[in-house]
Amino acid sequence: MLRSVSSDGTSGSERNAPPASRTRGARAMQMKSQATQVKTDAPASSSEGGRKRVYLLSEGNKDMKMLLGGKGANLCEMTKLNLPVPPAFIITTETCLEYFEEGTGDLPAALDYEFALKAIEEDTGKKFGDPLNPLLVSVRSGAPASMPGMMDTVLNLGLNDDIVEGIIKTTGNERFAYDTYRRFLNMYSDVVMDLDKEPFEEVITSIKKRKGIKLDLEMEAADWKEVVEEFKKLNPNVPSDPREQLRGAILAVFRSWNNDRAIRYRSYNNIPDEWGTAVNVQAMAYGNMNDGCGTGVAFSRNPSTGENKFFGEFLPNAAGEDVVAGIRTPQPLEEMAAKWPGVYEELYKYQEQLEKYYCDMQDIEFTVENGRLYMLQCRNGKRTAKAAVKIAVDMVKEGALTEAEALLRIPANQMDFFLHPTLDPKAQKTRIGEGLPASPGAATGKIVFTPDDAEVMANMGEEVILVRKETTPEDIHGMKSAEGVLTALGGMTSHAAVVARGMGKCCVSGCTAAEVDAKGKVLKLGDVELKEHDVITIDGSTGEVYLGTVERRSAAEDEDFQTVLGWADQMRKLKVLTNADTPDQAAQARKLGAQGIGLCRSEHMFFEPERISSMRAMIVAEEKGERLQHLDTLSLFQREDISGILKEMDGLPVTVRLLDPPLHEFLPHSPDEMQSLADTLGKPFSVVKDRVKQLQEVNPMLGFRGCRLSVVYPEITEMQARAVARAAAANKKAGLDPKPEIMVPVVSSAKELRLIVPRIEAAVKEELDKAGVDVKIPIGTMLELPRACETADQIVGTDAVEFISFGTNDLTQTVWGFSRDDAIRFIGRYQEQGLLDFDPFARIDEEGVGGLINMAVDKARTKQPETKVGICGEHGGEPNSVQFFHSSNFDYVSCSPFRVPIARISAGQAAAVEVSAQDKLYRESITNVKRAPK
Ligand code: PEP
Ligand code: MG
Repeated sequence: MLRSVSSDGTSGSERNAPPASRTRGARAMQMKSQATQVKTDAPASSSEGGRKRVYLLSEGNKDMKMLLGGKGANLCEMTKLNLPVPPAFIITTETCLEYFEEGTGDLPAALDYEFALKAIEEDTGKKFGDPLNPLLVSVRSGAPASMPGMMDTVLNLGLNDDIVEGIIKTTGNERFAYDTYRRFLNMYSDVVMDLDKEPFEEVITSIKKRKGIKLDLEMEAADWKEVVEEFKKLNPNVPSDPREQLRGAILAVFRSWNNDRAIRYRSYNNIPDEWGTAVNVQAMAYGNMNDGCGTGVAFSRNPSTGENKFFGEFLPNAAGEDVVAGIRTPQPLEEMAAKWPGVYEELYKYQEQLEKYYCDMQDIEFTVENGRLYMLQCRNGKRTAKAAVKIAVDMVKEGALTEAEALLRIPANQMDFFLHPTLDPKAQKTRIGEGLPASPGAATGKIVFTPDDAEVMANMGEEVILVRKETTPEDIHGMKSAEGVLTALGGMTSHAAVVARGMGKCCVSGCTAAEVDAKGKVLKLGDVELKEHDVITIDGSTGEVYLGTVERRSAAEDEDFQTVLGWADQMRKLKVLTNADTPDQAAQARKLGAQGIGLCRSEHMFFEPERISSMRAMIVAEEKGERLQHLDTLSLFQREDISGILKEMDGLPVTVRLLDPPLHEFLPHSPDEMQSLADTLGKPFSVVKDRVKQLQEVNPMLGFRGCRLSVVYPEITEMQARAVARAAAANKKAGLDPKPEIMVPVVSSAKELRLIVPRIEAAVKEELDKAGVDVKIPIGTMLELPRACETADQIVGTDAVEFISFGTNDLTQTVWGFSRDDAIRFIGRYQEQGLLDFDPFARIDEEGVGGLINMAVDKARTKQPETKVGICGEHGGEPNSVQFFHSSNFDYVSCSPFRVPIARISAGQAAAVEVSAQDKLYRESITNVKRAPK
């Protein structure tokens, strides 16, 4: 819901909220409270118009992520904890929105950061733009939610020809001065001025070639000086005034909120476009001055396996971007411990302190400048599904988290990792290479060399492995489409590794023996030469690469995963059922924890090759007698399958839905196929053709389907009801405890049910009486149409209707007026243009479809409080939607077998929010929370 902001009569704090046209009310409220939480003595110039746009690190805290971005808020917090953070100031996310709102292309007129720049100067004793004692700064983006590498950064800002001379004079380090200057010119040209990176790279490559060297480290002062001269020729327009540079860089960071990859990332990760990015302007710390410097990334626990061991990588004599870009393969932190034990110890102490403080695994960026440690960033670390589960379980064992808190840390939508296979240790395999185990799981697929190819192939249903020299944020769509990612360069903290872990995708990085020729589409691994579309298998848990396909197996038995599921089961109020149509699927789902079947699509039993001909014969039948004869055959199949399913789900409910799809879906459409059907049935071609024509519909999804088939062909419904009753009777006689239910689909009025339900009841009763057994077979219906929702009270008021199950696939289709089979063609474009935050067929649209659902549940429960309420559309296994069904007091969700564990965890999390709030109150009420020592 949008809030409108009027210029008259609004309170000061309301005016502090960003413009309503770009910002949701909830966010505005959140930021408003953040902004007023912190007392500030900042001069009035930073807060013109009642809005404070610039914060010093001493002025913020970790709870101000919405306003200061995640990076900025945590820098403030580390400063509060007295950790060595280079001084900085933060321009708020609101100011970014203001920039877009004003639309002048320039910084918001009211933004003034001079006072903050002065504060950094005072703190560092350096001066911005002073050649004799220059202050250089980094300008980094920082959104409220982590968007690694998606937005822009400019480092070493504040340099020009005079200042570089000053640096040489004061440091006596010419090599460092020119290395820094060339980095700045390169980054500024790329990020702020949008020039092509390649000519810049070519300058360095050709000097290296001429000198016969490979590494940046081998470049000497004169070489970097030459690079600087060449860069200036390539781009003579970098402003020499540092303040002008700063203005340009801040604008570039604002703009980068809306670059393609950031928009895409937000859409994949459900991050609202309305949030905006903060800008962090921070004094530079140098890791590239000499061998007493370095830079690194560390995690308080292993982000890949979850092991409780400080873990990380560093690069001596390098700048921060060198580690993340994967240009050189970094060294493990253990080597830093040997080289600089004092620094290592200090870092170790901080990571321990931060993890305890945040109660979560921390991802830390640091730089060592001449033996002095600087903390540049800390945040809750991205981790693999396996690590997430292990860390949660360990932290509960350590007493750091309650079960409810730990459960809430589990990324439910990544849990399918445990259901997808890892390599079978006994499988035959030919190992052709090895890299770093960057993100676990195993994947087999055809090699592709570009992200676009990955996307195209995946859309064609192919499984692919994306092979890259190194990945960049532009590769994100390819990484998403691929089964796994293999890179030649990069460490455990490279872009590929971080993004793959975030996506729950398997990844092998730093496979240095791999020669990747993306243009020629060839991958060489030692003697093995592979072309595009050759098949490989990668194991992200060990870093190994294998030729061809290797057998895999499920990780579902993982002990920690089972523990997490156990917590969820204890906490959740929602039952989790499954959508299954065969005994095999039922067995599979039960193993994964399904508490019954919420949707058995009975038509799926008729698609098997030997059954479809009976189905077709029944449809083509020219009179009722003939149709009944074929229905008898179909009844046998149906009874057999339902009986098998009831057996697998013994003691648990099995909801069999009556035939739903339009009949034409079962019939052939090409003349050849129609002829062959006519031959099989011994009927003239014209009979088949006429029937096909008769059943043809302009819009079959709104046509002759669901309960409408029951209205016109009651004998089909009767056959199905009898088959369910007979199957139940057979199981009962075999000493089992069958619990079948019958569900009527696509209902739009209670009148339809009043016609159909008594027919079902009569058929069931007759069969059970005949068999002499007593089985209760409840009858219910699906709410898939707006009219059914509107009249839910009448529907549950129909005699013998005991449950309702929302068919949210059809309900989404009919509420939005989007055809579920065709909407895929434009939903992506809707998302890109901000018209949809997510695909409503994947995640429930709470405002529209959800509103209707809540109304229907209300009406139904008011009329018949005992009515069982469930959902069996695809949304039943989607974490956000499950939370919605929990809060709407549903009795159950039903989803496909492989999503059952995800739904169990999501349902547990929905309940854990409440439990955890109580835990928090309890914790706050005791003075001394004890934590187990690490
Ligand atoms: C639904 O519409 O949500 C549903 C479960 O039925 P189907 O997908 O079979 O139409
Ligand atoms: Mg449906």
